[in-house]
Amino acid sequence: MTDVRGDGPALLRAIGATLPAMRLLTDPIDRESHRRDETAYLPAGLPLAVALPETTAEVAELVRLCGEHDVPIVPRGAGTGLSGGSAGIEGALTIAFTRMTRILEIDRGNLTVTTQPGIVNADLKAAVAAEGLFYAPDPASYETCTIGGNLGTNAGGLCCIKYGVTRDAVLGLEVVMADATVLRLGGKNVKDVAGYGLIPLLVGSQGTLALVTEATLRLRPAPPPRATLLAFFPSLEAAGEAVSGLTAAGLGPVTLELMDRFTIRAVDDMHRLGLDRDAAAMLLVESDLPGDAAAAEIAAAERVCEASAATLVVRAADAQEAEWLRQGRRLAFRALEALGAARMEDVGVPRSRVPEMLRAIEAIADRRAVTIGTFGHAGDGNLHPTLVLDRDGEDAAAIERLEAARTDLYEAALALGGTVTGEHGIGAARRDWLVRQRGEAAVGVMRAIKRALDPRDLLNPGRVLA
Ligand SMILES: Cc1cc2nc3c(=O)[nH]c(=O)nc-3n(C[C@H](O)[C@H](O)[C@H](O)COP(=O)(O)OP(=O)(O)OC[C@H]3O[C@@H](n4cnc5c(N)ncnc54)[C@H](O)[C@@H]3O)c2cc1C
Repeated sequence: MTDVRGDGPALLRAIGATLPAMRLLTDPIDRESHRRDETAYLPAGLPLAVALPETTAEVAELVRLCGEHDVPIVPRGAGTGLSGGSAGIEGALTIAFTRMTRILEIDRGNLTVTTQPGIVNADLKAAVAAEGLFYAPDPASYETCTIGGNLGTNAGGLCCIKYGVTRDAVLGLEVVMADATVLRLGGKNVKDVAGYGLIPLLVGSQGTLALVTEATLRLRPAPPPRATLLAFFPSLEAAGEAVSGLTAAGLGPVTLELMDRFTIRAVDDMHRLGLDRDAAAMLLVESDLPGDAAAAEIAAAERVCEASAATLVVRAADAQEAEWLRQGRRLAFRALEALGAARMEDVGVPRSRVPEMLRAIEAIADRRAVTIGTFGHAGDGNLHPTLVLDRDGEDAAAIERLEAARTDLYEAALALGGTVTGEHGIGAARRDWLVRQRGEAAVGVMRAIKRALDPRDLLNPGRVLA
């Protein structure tokens, strides 16, 4: 029997009385559909209810009432997370931000957009693109994930190599703290060093320190259409060498993505892109430099790939073909999911060590007799080795081999000076590894911060910190 904290029924009555207009899902089917994020393999609890606020004042009131009745809170965007961060906690209130989708302002003079957190990343991109502007962060899930979730995880994506991660795009936040105080942090200043940096602390805290109710994000003038290159390699290591080579050559592509043979075939089976199915690895390289500079950058990338033994180097014929290729890469995880039960990992290493990490992944797959499809943001040193289990063969022995492989992957990344998570977060999936990576002293500081900001452990308890 799972322990349930607080007085849930009293909380629901209090919400009904204080916020009668609030959409509150209490039907078992609705609650069940908010049990999990994209980590179906992790245990997750059934929420007491799902609240769908529309304003900051409603969020603050929900937090106040949860505090009063000692019911924990799980903040949730679209539930596409890959670390169990927005998965349900038994008897907790899930606050889903999916009705807080309003763009409050697009400010051309300051190149900022101010938005509520529930807007889907692609919708925000489209709205600013209509004004000739560009919001850079683009997780592969951008057509479904929300800005609030991106802030919660400090999401990366396919153009971080040039434009940085979500945190780099944040100038201001409005948040509700665990005691229901509403704070406004930052704003439109490009430079602002007054006091401790609370925005960088809160971005990526996976809903454990505060709930984001508004964000002011940095925009750029829309870049020109991209020039796109595909390079195929006879070995994973050769592709890894090309990644290091591109970095060492000082090239600044906007995209530098990798797929291994298993993933190339899965993507090609699903999308019929005409990829080289015999290649051991493929790199997708893109430039968004203006005018002739893009062609020059792509030509330089082509030379580096050829020097790293690429067997085939091709340029996208036009913008449509480039978009299909980019979309093929974005859907790599879905293509692997079509082949079995897929668990995406998220290791990161310094970029010069990508070849060694790729070699380690191959060795682990052999040693543990597991299938691993690897793809990812190679230009950031961030790889997604994805363990694919035969759906019919999910027996205890297969799970044991998979867990052993996962441990090996994390060990290998740490041994190379890397991280157990580049962009998906510790969440509920990797808590055991936090001390291993950061050390007791650093995790002690994290615990002290959590105690100071959320002394009653109300916000997403048990996530990030065990
Ligand atoms: C196919 C696929 C591809 C993906 N590709 C990428 C990728 O390229 N890069 C990448 O980084 N991730 C990727 N992801 C993972 C996921 O999409 C991101 O982590 C995304 O940021 C989650 O957004 P969400 O709206 O689904 O948030 P959720 O999963 O609902 O929540 C994520 C975390 O944020 C917290 N949170 C949500 N809203 C708020 C809020 N308003 N205030 C405070 N905390 C909040 C939650 O508590 C949780 O801890 C991918 C996932 C899938 C399924």
